[in-house]
Amino acid sequence: MLFVRTFKNGVHPSDQKKATMKKPIRIILPEKGSEVVYPMQQHLGAPAKPVVASGDRVLLGQRIAEMGGRVSSPIHASVSGVVSAIEPRLTPTGLVSQSVIIENDGLMLEDKSLATREDWRSLSREEIIDIVRDAGVVGLGGAGFPTHIKMSPPDYTKIDCFIVNAAECEPYLTSDYRVLIEETDRLLEGVEVMLGVFPNAEAVIAIETNKMEAVNRLSALVKRNPRVDVVPLYTKYPQGAEKQLINAVTGRVVPKGGLPADVGVVVNNADTVIAVHRSVVRGRPLMRRIVTVSGGAVMNKGNYKVRIGMPISGLIEATGGFREEPAKVLCGGPMMGFAMYDLDAPIIKTSSAIVALTEREARLPEQSGCIRCGKCVEHCPMGLMPLELNKFAIAADYGKFEEYDGSSCIECGCCTYICPAKRHLAQSIKTAKRLARSR
Ligand code: SF4
Ligand code: SF4
Repeated sequence: MLFVRTFKNGVHPSDQKKATMKKPIRIILPEKGSEVVYPMQQHLGAPAKPVVASGDRVLLGQRIAEMGGRVSSPIHASVSGVVSAIEPRLTPTGLVSQSVIIENDGLMLEDKSLATREDWRSLSREEIIDIVRDAGVVGLGGAGFPTHIKMSPPDYTKIDCFIVNAAECEPYLTSDYRVLIEETDRLLEGVEVMLGVFPNAEAVIAIETNKMEAVNRLSALVKRNPRVDVVPLYTKYPQGAEKQLINAVTGRVVPKGGLPADVGVVVNNADTVIAVHRSVVRGRPLMRRIVTVSGGAVMNKGNYKVRIGMPISGLIEATGGFREEPAKVLCGGPMMGFAMYDLDAPIIKTSSAIVALTEREARLPEQSGCIRCGKCVEHCPMGLMPLELNKFAIAADYGKFEEYDGSSCIECGCCTYICPAKRHLAQSIKTAKRLARSR
């Protein structure tokens, strides 16, 4: 019998995954002659610094930007071609970032440094971390935290649990699910790499029960491996949030302001584990990611393997375009994603999905006054009081906002989702967090 786990509170939005779950990953390449754009800020931490100049010829896999600080990540060309400009460009998040622009020659000529490592099992822990750092691997599930930093906690011998985050609780997203189904061997080898970095850890692949095919498939494969387990989780949002996932899997609570390593845990999402595998075993830097393209306005919903830097408009076009003019296009899912202003922005390392919503799907009900039903408090996974935080945010009372622990909000959107008065709670709290911090 399966022992299914979960965390406290949270919500159950319709998962909207049916349309793309069964769609195998399809490779999409940027068109010959098109611009491929690499913003220097596509990860958490300091922006990368360009190491190429306008007019340079670059090869696929060549490093085009180096780390801009200790917490940063290098960037590599995902096509071959010529650097046509280095200038500020819009990112999908709405920020403007200095960017390297490559005119794609369509030849995909590889840098000669890309080579498979037959002897990867003999690499030391330090060598593995250096390879992952130099390959520009960052968390592909959301925030883009550099993976080599996660691999280097103050005392790695205290890490006893490595979690592969395959919860994928955000509605519409199915890219990690397809990775579990289609790239299983590479995922398990990636887990082996991570267990080499954390010699005292056991690995847990955490999957929600709306993906039972993946639970069953992986459970059968790891049956004889005493260091790897598959843990099914109740389908609930935001199970994929790091603190909630750790609590669901281990019962441990990451202290306020603390890190997973403080409770002996390191978490990577499934596609990130594949990126670790590709860098260490196949000798390839991070140049592509899987993107779910979905929503009622899209002609061909599916999961696509896309070169980082490809314009979102080019991706949509290559998948067959829009069925109808979208009312809203989200980068990410509807709970934590953000609306985009310009579809010429590129796919970056953290772009997990493009969701194009029709007028009907995007319509937001009018908000009304709070009826003090307490539902937002009951469902907040961080145990906060969203109705009070919303009040302080509106009044710009950042002292009270901090007193009520507003900075611990993980911006999951559960409060907005559950509120019967349709109050824009999460949005106001998110803005207040930024303003409180900047003060
Ligand atoms: S859920 Fe909405 S209506 Fe209910 S207490 Fe919270 S803010 Fe007020
Ligand atoms: S207050 Fe923050 S953490 Fe709590 S439900 Fe709202 S968005 Fe999520």
